[in-house]
Amino acid sequence: MSDTTTTSLLDAITVPAAEGRAIPDAATGETMGHAPVHDVEHLNRAVAAARAAQPAWAALGHAERSAILHRTADEIDAHAEELARIIAQEQGKPLNGPGARFEAGGCAAWIRNAADTALDPEVVFEAPGTRSELHYGPLGVVGAIGPWNWPAMIAIWQIAPALRMGNTVVSKPSEYTPLSVLAVAELMNRHLPEGVLTVVSGGRDVGEGIAAHPDIDKVMFTGSTKTGRAIVKSSAGNLARLTLEMGGNDPGIILPGTDVKAIAENLFWGVFINTGQTCAALKRLYVHDSQYEEVVRTLADMAASMPMGPGLDESSVLGPLSTKQQFDIVSSLVEDARSRGARIVTGGEAAPELGPHFYRATVVADIDDGARLVDEEQFGPAIPVIRYTDVDDAVARANASDQGLGASVWGSDVAEAVAVAQRIEAGTVWINQHGTLNPDVPFGGVKGSGYGMEFGREGLKAVSAPKVITV
Ligand code: NAD
Repeated sequence: MSDTTTTSLLDAITVPAAEGRAIPDAATGETMGHAPVHDVEHLNRAVAAARAAQPAWAALGHAERSAILHRTADEIDAHAEELARIIAQEQGKPLNGPGARFEAGGCAAWIRNAADTALDPEVVFEAPGTRSELHYGPLGVVGAIGPWNWPAMIAIWQIAPALRMGNTVVSKPSEYTPLSVLAVAELMNRHLPEGVLTVVSGGRDVGEGIAAHPDIDKVMFTGSTKTGRAIVKSSAGNLARLTLEMGGNDPGIILPGTDVKAIAENLFWGVFINTGQTCAALKRLYVHDSQYEEVVRTLADMAASMPMGPGLDESSVLGPLSTKQQFDIVSSLVEDARSRGARIVTGGEAAPELGPHFYRATVVADIDDGARLVDEEQFGPAIPVIRYTDVDDAVARANASDQGLGASVWGSDVAEAVAVAQRIEAGTVWINQHGTLNPDVPFGGVKGSGYGMEFGREGLKAVSAPKVITV
């Protein structure tokens, strides 16, 4: 892929320096381009355009909308390398592995899946002379508010099902990663009718404006639990429907007798995918005393040997923290662990020779619940490994959190692992893997991680107005 093509998509979405906000390359801190600066006035215009475009978009019908969505996915595939390079620079994830190319490919895959998933009317009651059917129609205008960690893919998780069901969408990316979302929307908008999808590249004020907007029917939110709570409050006035995908502090439990070598690779990626900046990454690992040192050593050896570097470097496996703020959070949680006497087995420090906010992949042992690194979401490459002796106690500690996004149980006896999984409070419990997502399989959290589900038929229902027709 030549730099000329990279520049052309970037050129299409960036504005002159005098009109925009500088967006840093996450690895170097140097400006990669300027994003437009949108405010609540832009939001109001986008919502008005979305409202005006919605009836005609809905009237096209499922088959025609799906055909258009397939064309948008083809367009993304045709420009996947340019999109991946924008994501790798702006967010920081490496091009290879489960990184920026994977994210660009995921955008197209999730669009195609939404386009091809049927949500036909269901007969819910039938008796002689009467029949009740449940039909699903569009809600109207969907406001989509996204985070910075998987910016393009998470925007698509919100946009694709909404469009598929005949809604129009106003999307607000994180202020840290507007270019990735502007880029994917630019590619889609080469095929969508005017007004059907608009990106408003604004800050928190625009997010608040979406949540409180009288003409937005549904808010899809992915981000922190704190912001989710604010959105619930702001949306009370117009009773917008909400899907809230929020933070996680996912536990993993390794059962006694597990073949550690067999799970090592899945375990590593469960923790360190996107350098730990993933909502459903494994964030606290409970290991039985009998295998504690073996697991700690295995994870530490892998962490120490993985190449870390800029996203655009083909040899990088791990990247920087996306922002200085996130770097500070990870550093302070590890320092707190150190000050409590925890053992830093590998990492535990910045890697300034790589760039301004790289932090080495870190494994922390001899740490317990109560330490901030265990109790709080680190959202970075630092995993606390906690020793347990009794499985019931490990389950109780895994559940002693106000978050409930994902969890995992690891063991050689799958039936035993499933039995433990049933006792864990989370939206998804994986066995011998963590964080793997599939567009057909519903995904969502419980407790402080939010409510509502995305993906598959459940995801389409979440952006639909149900209507019963009784004959
Ligand atoms: P954040 O809550 O700070 O920001 C998310 C978005 O909300 C941004 O676009 C921001 O501008 C906007 N926003 C901020 N204040 C707002 C307000 N008062 N009203 C409306 N919008 C507002 O989250 P972040 O730091 O971007 O993302 C990291 C968090 O997201 C982590 O906790 C992570 O676990 C979570 N996350 C969850 C999922 C999931 O699917 N459950 C996926 C990715 C990230």
